[in-house]
Amino acid sequence: SNFTKFDIAELIEQSRRLVQPEATEAGVSIRVQTNGLPPVSANRIQIAQVIVNLLRNAVEAIGENNLANRSVTVTARQQDGTLAVTVEDDGPGIDPGIELFSEFETTKPNGMGLGLSICRTMIEANGGKLWQDATYTDGARFCFTLPVPQRGI
Ligand code: ADP
Ligand code: MG
Repeated sequence: SNFTKFDIAELIEQSRRLVQPEATEAGVSIRVQTNGLPPVSANRIQIAQVIVNLLRNAVEAIGENNLANRSVTVTARQQDGTLAVTVEDDGPGIDPGIELFSEFETTKPNGMGLGLSICRTMIEANGGKLWQDATYTDGARFCFTLPVPQRGI
């Protein structure tokens, strides 16, 4: 099923590079924090698509507003036997009128409202979970996990 073993830090860096022109245009800096991570086994293209989607949403959310701080931080860490990736921004946060992860829910004039539903479906197909962390109130924070393959054998 197109699963390969790869370095998530490298994939995050590639995804960041892809979004960089839009971020620069919006005056948003993207920070990446990844240290000593185990390889993950997943569909690399799908995981790249998820990271790019989350980064784009964050850049768009900040870009639409005139905010002093303009940054997105991507963090990956090992947590409870999984690899956990967090994308957080200091944008305006989630519009309370929106039902996240429902298809066609969008606050953007030209949005499709499919990105988050697709992201969740893809992460679940890779054995992980994807959610919005509502305890974070300085903007928006999305998290996803991926299984870490057992060593040996
Ligand atoms: P689209 O980007 O086409 O609107 P998504 O499914 O990617 O569709 O996102 C749905 C909605 O969720 C967005 O329109 C926006 O209102 C909200 N959203 C997603 N990410 C963020 C974010 N980082 N900050 C604020 N709102 C967000
Ligand atoms: Mg989107």
